Amino acid sequence: MKLTVRPLKQKDAGRRLAAIDRVAADELGLSGGDIVRVEGQDGAAIARVWPGYPEDDGTGVVRIDGRLRQEANVGIDDRVTIESVDVSRAESVTIAFPSQLRVRGQIAPFIRDKLSGQPVTEGQTIRTSMGFGLMGGQSQAVPMKIAETRPGGTVVITDDTEITVSEVAAEEIAERGEGPEGTGEGPDVAYEDIGGLDDELEQVREMIELPMRHPELFKRLGIDPPKGVLLHGPPGTGKTLIAKAVANEIDANFHTISGPEIMSKYYGESEEQLREVFEEAAEESPSIIFMDELDSIAPKREEAGGDVERRVVAQLLSLMDGLEERGEVVVIGATNRVDAIDPALRRGGRFDREIEVGVPNRDGRKEILQVHTRNMPLVEGIDLDEYAENTHGFVGADLESLAKESAMHALRRIRPELDLESDEIDAEVLNSIQVTESDFKEAIKG
Ligand code: ADP
Repeated sequence: MKLTVRPLKQKDAGRRLAAIDRVAADELGLSGGDIVRVEGQDGAAIARVWPGYPEDDGTGVVRIDGRLRQEANVGIDDRVTIESVDVSRAESVTIAFPSQLRVRGQIAPFIRDKLSGQPVTEGQTIRTSMGFGLMGGQSQAVPMKIAETRPGGTVVITDDTEITVSEVAAEEIAERGEGPEGTGEGPDVAYEDIGGLDDELEQVREMIELPMRHPELFKRLGIDPPKGVLLHGPPGTGKTLIAKAVANEIDANFHTISGPEIMSKYYGESEEQLREVFEEAAEESPSIIFMDELDSIAPKREEAGGDVERRVVAQLLSLMDGLEERGEVVVIGATNRVDAIDPALRRGGRFDREIEVGVPNRDGRKEILQVHTRNMPLVEGIDLDEYAENTHGFVGADLESLAKESAMHALRRIRPELDLESDEIDAEVLNSIQVTESDFKEAIKG
């Protein structure tokens, strides 16, 4: 039986889950916790079965996150087969922490608890909610590396697995390149890292991902794939995220041009710089060129100050006109002042598709909060709906700060227990950090 790949919900990403439509799972004789191989045409990933979402019942859908899509070399809407695999239980697993984090005491039981049931492979990086916020003052989940497993290959951690902490730091293991191929950090940004923009992402996929992945379809239909897409909306709403996620999803190279930077830093060489980026993108195609703050590169020519601006706009126009029709290089422009952009750039064959990326509504805010609290040790029963409700007007970047600020509050609460003289942290303390309702409330108050 073939199933269709869809993205996971934001809250479930990062845990090697395959949420399989419950009707299909029954037919396949699979139940939650089983280990399966998700096999595409040209790759496979090991995942743990997760109960399908109710809305997927009978639709023949399997949801996996960006990391597994990359490992299985499949994209959204591709067809895959799922088969149960017999994965060995891990006798022992060695975990490496980043060098910034030194743990004292018995951390192994906590790690086992967090990872029990999860399939792992040597070289893989895992984030759990443990120790959130302790990395160099940054609020982030501690990336732990699977340094070694016995037996080798993909193994499942069980309650009996012996966990040891490596003497060698995670970074050094990465540098020694011990991990097998395809088990690296995974894509920087996946669709699961973006909240509240499902429709916008679907539009971007239709315009960019489909033509890049299936050029033959577009050729047959006689449709020209777009050369440029313009994302517009207030700052911090996720325009850059969308561009990065699309590039990752289709394994395209990502080239960034910052409007203000190219106009100032390279003053006098702006046209040359533009040309170089386009050349590089063509050489390394498929490529996405992301032009941030496009309005500062390409203001309306009548408003543009001098000759230089006019020449840069002319250069950009000619570079875009020169892009081949094959859709191998696509330019994504972003701006919060769409009306300030030279109309010549918004005409056919240039940035002729426009997508508004607006301020998120309540449901969007909840999804964004789910993204940014995914690896946080939230106290049980915390109601993100409440915070989605109370953050009217917040954009994605604001909600990200809110989540981080809440984690900082949680850290301040345990500070008396931290031994500031020592650069080690006690395992019990590391495991006990929790972000509570009051941390969120304090953070909202600002
Ligand atoms: P823009 O390009 O629209 O100015 P960015 O994509 O650079 O905004 O967003 C800045 C940061 O804010 C992101 O790195 C992310 O952490 C957070 N963020 C913004 N929008 C979203 C969103 N829709 N979902 C999740 N996180 C978001």
